[in-house]
Amino acid sequence: MSKLSEIEILAERNPDIPMEVIVKEDLLRQGMSWSPEALAVAAEYKSKAYFIFSFDMVPISGMEQNENVKAPEDVRLAGGPYNFRPVVVSVRLNPDSPYRVASENNSLVLKLDGDAVTGVELQKTPEYYRRTLSNGRHVAEIAPTIEWGYLLYLTVFRLCQYPAAGEGCLYCDINENYRQQKNAGRSYTPVKSVEEVMEALEIIASMDCDSRAYTVTGGSVTETLEGKSEVDFYARYPEAIERRWPGRWISKAAVQALPKDDVRRLRDAGVQIYHPNFEIWDARLFEVFCPGKARRVGRDEWIRRILDAADVFGPENVIPNFVAGVEMAPAAGFGSFGSIDAIESIDAAISSTAEGLEFFMSRGISPRFTTWCPEPLSTLGKERRGAPLEYYIRLLRVYRNTRAKYKLPVPRGYGEPGLGRAMFSVSSFMDIL
Ligand code: SF4
Repeated sequence: MSKLSEIEILAERNPDIPMEVIVKEDLLRQGMSWSPEALAVAAEYKSKAYFIFSFDMVPISGMEQNENVKAPEDVRLAGGPYNFRPVVVSVRLNPDSPYRVASENNSLVLKLDGDAVTGVELQKTPEYYRRTLSNGRHVAEIAPTIEWGYLLYLTVFRLCQYPAAGEGCLYCDINENYRQQKNAGRSYTPVKSVEEVMEALEIIASMDCDSRAYTVTGGSVTETLEGKSEVDFYARYPEAIERRWPGRWISKAAVQALPKDDVRRLRDAGVQIYHPNFEIWDARLFEVFCPGKARRVGRDEWIRRILDAADVFGPENVIPNFVAGVEMAPAAGFGSFGSIDAIESIDAAISSTAEGLEFFMSRGISPRFTTWCPEPLSTLGKERRGAPLEYYIRLLRVYRNTRAKYKLPVPRGYGEPGLGRAMFSVSSFMDIL
């Protein structure tokens, strides 16, 4: 049976999850390759900015076509033999993926093992990507946009102090990605100054109408950074942005689960949406996968801080991320138990994460997902094997049903929900609402 037939069967068996979403999740867990002709076309469009992690399934050293400087940030799947409604997908490079973007008759086509699946559209390079700051750095490096231009992604600290202390999260390649990008010639610096960010946003604000939100984020600060605590370091950015352009964008911060006073500080700095990412619900795996967070904060305290943050921001404005599927990582997750077959494994993983969704959603807090990308520069990504596709289909169903059970509003800061309109690119949670 062809791989495309398998997708068709999955779509038939799961009529509540659109085929577009099934293909999107499969692309996110397996990545995509590019034919030389398609890559040449893509190189003329908005390129991948490597906005925080690599989000690739191959290191730059393994990219024989220099995909790292030619591949696009996102693709939009649309049309084709199944008449796909538009779906935006983040580009995760993997030369060994069964998915390949090819160029045919002046159009791009996504193929699965040689069979055409859908058309592929690219986003034009925004004019501000061509501009530079007074210090010569590119706007695209300081304030790239993702999600088809909706979200300004401000990684103001490109390193994390956990891996530096040997306590990095096992699914994360932030520091390794920094190193490989520097070696490949990108002019990365560990910290973006407030002045650089403001200068880049000044340019963007003068010529862009697509961006609607920004996220201030970066690695964790466990000690101090430039003499400042985590909250003191990060709060300066929204403070400056909101002073200059009050309410121009929806403001979000993705930093650690902080004590309540620090969370108030973020709110007072103008942050509207807080992402104290939880990453993985299972208690044992949280200890193993997030050793730094487990040791220095602790899982129970992390949960307490999320609940405290709901008092400060309102529960609908606290959105912890889960790394969806990492609980099935072959090296250490549920999938490592040889005595449990695949179906039972998926059952165990889903029931664990469903428990986490139930816990938060029953309190009005709606987590969201990033589909796990097994990055080979991370500990868990070395085998480059993501969770099974069926896991993602079932997870999205549980997510949607649990949201409906608690009548939760559409999460703010992600644009419109629904197939054909959603723009969130690293998971389908907005496509299925
Ligand atoms: S806290 Fe963990 S996931 Fe976040 S940047 Fe540091 S190592 Fe990566």
